[in-house]
Amino acid sequence: MKLIDNLYAYLWPGLTMAEMQKYGNNCNSYIIATVLPGGKHAIIDPGQVVNETGQPCLDRLVGEMAKDGIRVEDIGLIINTHAHPDHYGANQTIKKMSGALVTISERDDKFVSEMMGQFSRQIEMMGIEVPEVGADFYLWEGQLNLGEGLILEILPTPGHSPGHVSIYWLTMKVLIGGDLIFHGNTGRVDLPGGNSRLLKESIERVSHLEIDYLLTGHQYGSPGIIQGEENIKRNFDFVRRNIFPYL
Ligand SMILES: [Zn+2]
Repeated sequence: MKLIDNLYAYLWPGLTMAEMQKYGNNCNSYIIATVLPGGKHAIIDPGQVVNETGQPCLDRLVGEMAKDGIRVEDIGLIINTHAHPDHYGANQTIKKMSGALVTISERDDKFVSEMMGQFSRQIEMMGIEVPEVGADFYLWEGQLNLGEGLILEILPTPGHSPGHVSIYWLTMKVLIGGDLIFHGNTGRVDLPGGNSRLLKESIERVSHLEIDYLLTGHQYGSPGIIQGEENIKRNFDFVRRNIFPYL
């Protein structure tokens, strides 16, 4: 779905309890189209190939993109907000289809290896396959120049994971927040590497930005996109008042 200009949103269904049960977990994906050299696209958080309920997440994404005239073969860059498999699981498959480069923070890339080392026996016993992130270069705090004058600001926003980043597109006043903050809630801090103090600090940090579109990583029973400066401010206030005390 085209959101504004060359920004496209592909929201994983999950607005209602029935949808959440039917579709299971996957993240929202966002594309900034035709911005890279050669008219290629950047995708933020491609989600997973198939999720725990057997939903073909990547096939669905590719199908939705095709409706907008965006081919997966033309993806040139995969940006991950953080190293949870529901956000980066499809990295390597998309890379094989397109030759895209993958980028993530160094901290979260290393975090995956640390976790795999620490929990290798449990992971093996549970028969879980942890996909490879396969970073080609690392995201650092500051500007990421995609080309054609489009600059994204990379903001470290740890708390949900140690190396979580948010992506701020100043000229469009768009914040792609990954699992930092949702409509009426925050990202989880109870997973390995989570830290509630850091999450609160990260939310405070981005709450001062001018944001017209807050694009979140999931629709957990509430809209994945929060639109309008006032609504976004209200959401930050709500979370501060009603969620922070419990973190
Ligand atoms: Zn996550």
